[in-house]
Amino acid sequence: AVRVRFAPSPTGFLHLGGLRTALYNYIFAKKHQGSFILRLEDTDQTRLVPGAAENIEDMLEWAGIPPDESPRRGGPVGPYLQSQRLELYAQATEALLKTGAAYPCFCSTQRLELLKKEALRNRQTPRYDNRCRSLSPTQVAQKLAETPKPAIRFRLQEEAAPAFRDLVHGWTRHAVGSVEGDPVILKSDGFPTYHLACVVDDHHMGISHVLRGSEWLVSTAKHLLLYQALGWQPPRFAHLPLLLNQDGSKLSKRQGDIFLEHFADAGFLPEALLDIVTNCGSGFTENQMGRTLPQLIEQFDLTRVICHSALLDLDKLPEFNRLHLLRQVRSETQRRQLVGELQALVEAALGDQLQDPGVLDPAYLERILLLRQGHFCRLRDLVSPEYSYLWTRPAVRRVQLDALSEKADVITKGVLGLLDEVALTQDVLNRELKKLSEGLAGTKHSHVMKVLRVALSGQLQGPPVAEMMVTLGPKEVRERIQKVLS
Ligand code: GLU
Repeated sequence: AVRVRFAPSPTGFLHLGGLRTALYNYIFAKKHQGSFILRLEDTDQTRLVPGAAENIEDMLEWAGIPPDESPRRGGPVGPYLQSQRLELYAQATEALLKTGAAYPCFCSTQRLELLKKEALRNRQTPRYDNRCRSLSPTQVAQKLAETPKPAIRFRLQEEAAPAFRDLVHGWTRHAVGSVEGDPVILKSDGFPTYHLACVVDDHHMGISHVLRGSEWLVSTAKHLLLYQALGWQPPRFAHLPLLLNQDGSKLSKRQGDIFLEHFADAGFLPEALLDIVTNCGSGFTENQMGRTLPQLIEQFDLTRVICHSALLDLDKLPEFNRLHLLRQVRSETQRRQLVGELQALVEAALGDQLQDPGVLDPAYLERILLLRQGHFCRLRDLVSPEYSYLWTRPAVRRVQLDALSEKADVITKGVLGLLDEVALTQDVLNRELKKLSEGLAGTKHSHVMKVLRVALSGQLQGPPVAEMMVTLGPKEVRERIQKVLS
């Protein structure tokens, strides 16, 4: 059975990069009727950020890709927090110590610091010199008497560089031994480091495929050696391209605005975020905007994921959002939900300014959604100043119109006449309004529009007059004009 996991460290809130990794795992699981697991890698207790664990799980649910098993939901192979699985890491370490694949390290922090400093001074990568590898059993026994809880290191075969076939990158090989020296797998405080915890958990959680960011590609060789030393069958690996900004900089270098919470607060739909993060780096039979999660699952093909970095163009997010809103407006059930959301937005925007409770009427709101569909990127755009004419009747006086044009009277009366004669569609109105202007020798069309715009909205700038008239409907247009003329 396919079992995949998203394994973030709760050292920060969920951002777009994390969402993308989680999403590919989710899609892969659903595509193969498998399970999607959330495991929190909280072994570095010094870097935990309060609220991050909750935020990660909340945001996965908000995004519509909830895990099947998780710290909150539980599941058959829990706990799903590494800090609660210390016993399993201790057991694995014990097994590795027994076969000699791991050894205790008694080097003091000072000594390790010195090694590091010296390497940096010589412009070399800091590397542990594997000193404690060669301690005799007697020496170990002696040192254990003084330091009963030493760190444990994994003995890397110097020449070992296990090749493996990555599902994205193909055959891959990375030398391990000579670069950093033997890695610590268990710290003296009993907490594991990433490599051991990851391997132990992937094994005990029955993970079949590891889909993660390509920054972990070089670690995989170490993981394979650990699997080998523990006598376990490794999962398959697929390393996803790094997600970068358009200019090639790291996503994390953007400030604050890559967190999912930010996008939720800014009124973007989760569907638009899922769509945009899968539109770079590919993995789908064709590239198109506006895909829903079921379509993403249907079209996903891991072999199409690219190896080079994926550039995310966040400037396109409003357009992605527009497409998803359009789809929702066109679906009757989703539109009903949008009506409720729009109602809340209007209420919040108007507050005590609300003059006419009719604007909160679901039928009115639904009409607005249908008439303006495809023309707004976020639902909240409909309560922006541009659309204030939809929610408040302007207080316009006759003199204001007269000040704009001496023909204000003829113009407004001409429009009242139109209301009786023609169907209010934007095309018809545009034509008729043009005609009206042409009939008024010496008055520019733009002035005619200005008079009408002020009469209908009280504002000099705003949407096209025909659009306003269609959206308001003939009855409301008449009432507004008559009020000004009276
Ligand atoms: N905890 C690692 C991270 O934060 C997980 C890497 C992996 O998936 O193995 O990305």
